[in-house]
Amino acid sequence: MGSKIGGQELEKELSGVNLLPVDAGETQKVAPVKKWTIEDSENLYRIPGWGEPYFSINAAGHITVTPQGDRGGSLDLHELIESLKSRNIGLPLLLRFSDILSDRIERLNACFSRAIARYNYPNVYKGVYPIKCNQHRHIVESLVHYGKPYQFGLEAGSKPELMIALATLEPVLNPKNDQSEALLVCNGYKDKEYIETALLGTRLGHKPLIVIEQLEELYLIIKVSRQLNITPHLGVRAKLSTKGMGHWGNSTGDRAKFGLTIPEMLTVVTELEKVGMLDSLQLLHYHIGSQISAINVVKDAIREASQIYVELVKLGANMQYLDVGGGLGVDYDGSKTNFYASKNYNMQNYANDIVAEVQEACEEANIKAPTLISESGRAIASHQSVLVFDILSASEVPCQPPQPTGEKEHLIIRNLWETYNSINEQTYQEAYHDAGQFKEEAISLFTFGYVTLKERARAEQLYWACCHKILTIARQQDYVPDDLEDLEKIMASIYYANLSVFQSVPDSWAIDQLFPIMPIHRLDEEPTNRAILADLTCDSDGKIDKFIDLRGDIKSILELHPLRYKKDSSSPEPYYIGMFLVGAYQEIMGNLHNLFGDTNVVHIRMNPKGYQIEHVVKGDTISEVLSYVQYNAEDLFENMRRRTEQALQENRMTIEESQLLLQDYERSLRRYTYLVSE
Ligand SMILES: *Cc1c(COP(=O)(O)O)cnc(C)c1O
Repeated sequence: MGSKIGGQELEKELSGVNLLPVDAGETQKVAPVKKWTIEDSENLYRIPGWGEPYFSINAAGHITVTPQGDRGGSLDLHELIESLKSRNIGLPLLLRFSDILSDRIERLNACFSRAIARYNYPNVYKGVYPIKCNQHRHIVESLVHYGKPYQFGLEAGSKPELMIALATLEPVLNPKNDQSEALLVCNGYKDKEYIETALLGTRLGHKPLIVIEQLEELYLIIKVSRQLNITPHLGVRAKLSTKGMGHWGNSTGDRAKFGLTIPEMLTVVTELEKVGMLDSLQLLHYHIGSQISAINVVKDAIREASQIYVELVKLGANMQYLDVGGGLGVDYDGSKTNFYASKNYNMQNYANDIVAEVQEACEEANIKAPTLISESGRAIASHQSVLVFDILSASEVPCQPPQPTGEKEHLIIRNLWETYNSINEQTYQEAYHDAGQFKEEAISLFTFGYVTLKERARAEQLYWACCHKILTIARQQDYVPDDLEDLEKIMASIYYANLSVFQSVPDSWAIDQLFPIMPIHRLDEEPTNRAILADLTCDSDGKIDKFIDLRGDIKSILELHPLRYKKDSSSPEPYYIGMFLVGAYQEIMGNLHNLFGDTNVVHIRMNPKGYQIEHVVKGDTISEVLSYVQYNAEDLFENMRRRTEQALQENRMTIEESQLLLQDYERSLRRYTYLVSE
């Protein structure tokens, strides 16, 4: 299959692009040049697909954030960054919009209540937020606050998360009023202490639902609840046979890491019955993996789970809750397809299918419909965070117009020159192979001493000139042959980003997750460069070279604007890139590769006058990251002082040099781990 390098409208408008200095005139058709508009940027970066209703472009060509969708005010992201910078809050910077969080909770609940009304479902929906998705205090606290009107609860997957939940979720002091109560779903591996803590939470007014994930936990729970004399509310996690998809596809099936097989579930029922505790079994839980892209997988799972639920009721369990876990997807590429970075359904379809399937199964079996629980993390937390970073510099593929060759030049150079001249719409594919071969030959001749360093340089220049010319032609074709697919990649500029991929977007590195990435300003200007992003770490994996594209494709370059340089300055004017939908999982999975620490975080909240800064969480300083690896800043500084003193004594250093070194060292210890542009 041929691949598409360009072929979109914008290709036809290429004019004076910096990749075109080579004989551009001969291939360029003289067409009226259409001015680049913000609509062109919208289409190119696909904002309506992934950004609605929160992100769009304003007339100034800047990204606008509308945290409450069409119901509230908006702010200009570029202005916000400038104003934060003037308050000494530097880049990279993670922005969190609390109103988006609130809007997500509201939307999820609205979808379920519409579905419940539509199908006349005779029970309610009570969602919980899985803390593991983003545990930061301000987020969990906001979620609990915004979730209150919906009795939105929390899900803990470990002991530390349980501890957050117990202390953050508001207990219900009037336990008779069951309706007002948010749930606390207790998942994950459990030891005695976990179970004791969860059970004692009941005494505070919480409703912990302890989900049995492993058979061994059952015996421990029976023992501990008897010792404490507290009746537990229990759940079982089922290993469904429905196959998940994508990265988390093996969260289901007999050999899944978590959950009980059907025979094990029956053992739970008989064991509980034996000790007279079958009344405690109230919940059925499953989780088929995150980011489910296809609605039929959601349907298959709920259908299977509904039957298990019905059977558990028939076995005499006091069933009350059906918990469908996470998996509600986020449309990262905006394509609305079942591609892994997308999903072919919306939140309402999701809620409808769950409600309808459970309703049907319960009606058929003539049993009471359960309270529905979902544990959506990604769909709640992703949209609220935007990472903004600046570009420090860019490196472009060398591209000088080639000089004609003389008779006397080396044969290999004359061959390359001839190839260069022969390139046209008919020959460009063949020429690409020839040029590559001649370049390889030149290198090999050099290695054996038949070609001088100057000749090799000349050969390489000619090779790049060929590539430029070929690419110019290839971009004008609708489809180009497979073997030219790499050309765009080879010719891409490298934009150096003030960021660590490992700290800020680990999933981009670890599992090739795609996030929408685009400049947050200059969007009324055509982005004429094609680039990949390289981060600050000394790791060749520290780059981003996969970007969202049309219809579930991935493209290997991102269109960016040429950097502008101030007069007499070697550093470029600020150029800001935003990475969107990064609120789920990225922060906590980030690591300290090369000791780049947490970024600055700013919480923004809208108010009638505009916006206000709710919290600023300063990123790590160098002393802080050093302490994570057991260095003490004072000891380090003391060592440096002693060494400078010695160098002074031995006249290896001037007093000014020693002052400068110690001053820089001391200041750096207190500094952000990222680069500060002058
Ligand atoms: C991770 C996880 C979730 C969250 O899944 P999302 O796809 O982010 O909504 C929910 N439940 C359990 C048990 C999980 O492990």
